[in-house]
Amino acid sequence: DSPDPQAGQAVKAADRAHVFHSWSAQGLIDPMAVAGAEGSYFWDYDGNRFLDFSSQLVNTNIGHQHPKVVAAIQEQAGKLCTIAPGFAVDVRSEAARLIAERTPGDLDKIFFTNGGAEAVENALRMARVHTGRPKALSAYRSYHGATAAAINLTGDPRRWASDTGAAGVVHFWAPFLYRSPFHAETEEQECERALRHLEDTIAFEGPQTIAAIILETVPGTAGIMVPPPGYLTGVREICDRYGIVFILDEVMAGFGRTGHWFAADGFDVVPDLLTFAKGVNSGYVPLGGVAISAEIAATFDQRPYPGGLTYSGHPLACASAVATINAMAEERIVENAAEIGETVLGPGLRELAERHPSVGDVRGMGVFWALDLVRDKETREPLVPYNASGEANAPMAAFAAACKRNGLWPFVNMNRTHAVPPCTITPSEAKEGLAALDAALTLADEHAAR
Ligand code: PLP
Repeated sequence: DSPDPQAGQAVKAADRAHVFHSWSAQGLIDPMAVAGAEGSYFWDYDGNRFLDFSSQLVNTNIGHQHPKVVAAIQEQAGKLCTIAPGFAVDVRSEAARLIAERTPGDLDKIFFTNGGAEAVENALRMARVHTGRPKALSAYRSYHGATAAAINLTGDPRRWASDTGAAGVVHFWAPFLYRSPFHAETEEQECERALRHLEDTIAFEGPQTIAAIILETVPGTAGIMVPPPGYLTGVREICDRYGIVFILDEVMAGFGRTGHWFAADGFDVVPDLLTFAKGVNSGYVPLGGVAISAEIAATFDQRPYPGGLTYSGHPLACASAVATINAMAEERIVENAAEIGETVLGPGLRELAERHPSVGDVRGMGVFWALDLVRDKETREPLVPYNASGEANAPMAAFAAACKRNGLWPFVNMNRTHAVPPCTITPSEAKEGLAALDAALTLADEHAAR
């Protein structure tokens, strides 16, 4: 593609005329016009090419325009574009089989949705109907989606505008040693205190009122906090003791991101319900879902499940999931994510932390990493305050702009940047990304104590 700035301006003007964007003050945004994408890169109309260290919204796990997935969508479009969810269709059954074979334990039934938030909505509905209880517990420092129940479960400022009460959600603190809510100094202390805090919360809420506990297996947007050994198995045990449904939200962490098919595989834990979306088909067509345990599935053997969607198990989405999962297996894409994490990204990011005064903490696994940027490594004061905007957020905005000038599209949230490239990224692309981060961090260092 040769640069065509005029075409880019026209695309932008058309966008500004009628497109209303997510999470934005419409008058203050200037969306980049995208001309194309392939593999780990996408580009604009002005000749700028970006290494995608965000995987868009952490969803293009197999990169852009994977030829096998594009072909599968084209082929399915020629065969059967759409059909109501009540029918049996080859491609939907095959997608469900491929997913169920990979989800942990006995999570063998798949309810399909159009994305992550709807998966969370339906998982919570299943838990409430299954237990006959009203409430759900979820963590601060979490994101579960932007629909009614999902946004109320969310533990970040995006929830505040939707906090209309009556949702039956109670938030608790999950472990995060670097910014410990429990003033712990070791992983063991953090784990033990976090489990005790959860038990206390349950006791004071009344265990018989709690349908579900939902956690991201590895919290994503909130900061990629890898849980300490024993925490998730501890939550599993607490749920079993009180008859609470354990939901793991793997919308972001699933399908290879952590170097496992599901993040739960890395922690030897099996939830009762597992939500997925994003990586299931890299977002080529909207798709999400809930993987359901045998026990919860049995609740709806004779009693109708009170939920559904016109596009549940949409053929184009399912065809893209089948092709994605098969390509991931054939091309060892999950293994690549694990190897890149161990051999390039993890060591490279730790090396950046040693040299840059603004990098307080490095954490993650696979292709799922966060750099916690600080003003002071000793006090761990964040580079910008929690939920900062405008002038207060200037150091992070300058950092993001520098990344883009260096040809890297970063994922930035509050005082963090996440290194979350596609699972298909090559060692040389990962090194290219590390070099761009290195240069941009020099700017962040100007705000940090030396
Ligand atoms: N759950 C998690 C863990 C997520 O990261 C997200 C999106 O980022 C969602 C749910 C919501 O997914 P969607 O935006 O597809 O509704």
